[in-house]
Amino acid sequence: MTKRTQSNGKKKHTSLEEYRRKRDFEATPEPDGGTRSKPPLKKGLLFVVQKHQASHLHYDFRLEWRGVLLSWAIPKGPSLDPSVKRLAAQVEDHPREYANFEGVIPEGEYGAGTVMVWDRGAWGPEVPDVDAALRKGELKFTLDGQKLRGSWVLVRTRLGRGSKPQWLLIKHRDEYASSEDIELEPRSVLTKRLMAEIARIDRGDVEKAAQADPAGSRAS
Ligand code: MN
Repeated sequence: MTKRTQSNGKKKHTSLEEYRRKRDFEATPEPDGGTRSKPPLKKGLLFVVQKHQASHLHYDFRLEWRGVLLSWAIPKGPSLDPSVKRLAAQVEDHPREYANFEGVIPEGEYGAGTVMVWDRGAWGPEVPDVDAALRKGELKFTLDGQKLRGSWVLVRTRLGRGSKPQWLLIKHRDEYASSEDIELEPRSVLTKRLMAEIARIDRGDVEKAAQADPAGSRAS
């Protein structure tokens, strides 16, 4: 989350070094996080959840903070049920414009597979000091997305020593809490596509992507 000023005067997010190191931007359609790329929203803090059928299906949960997207991989995805805690493994920070990325990461590249913008919107902290909350390992926040809304908390259960920090994502009790399956609305909030449709149009593995679509959802 730190910035350093390059000789050309442009600011570069040093926390994106791991993101860049892992990817070959000649081979993947993902954004490189360069200073010229435009952010997706003009103001407000952004959150995005990307459904990602990689070697294993997971949901990437990202919160904009200090110019980058703090990122967690959630194998089972968020739950609307406050009694359910969902494991969220913190991963490398992503560039802000990653919130627009939907498509196919080619075979052989890092994270190869189909990516859907599953939900997107604004988030706001419920604490006065986000940095202190992140250090402490308990961040309460509100989501205003198309699928996820209301009050949530991320609680860190293990600090990253050698491995990545592990957190739990938990829904707070409020009017948006529910026992409903999050996959009642399985389509992309950007394009209304299912995973199989994204894979077909972007020349990915359609059969594998289709396994991430709920049974009964019909590709058009
Ligand atoms: Mn991922």
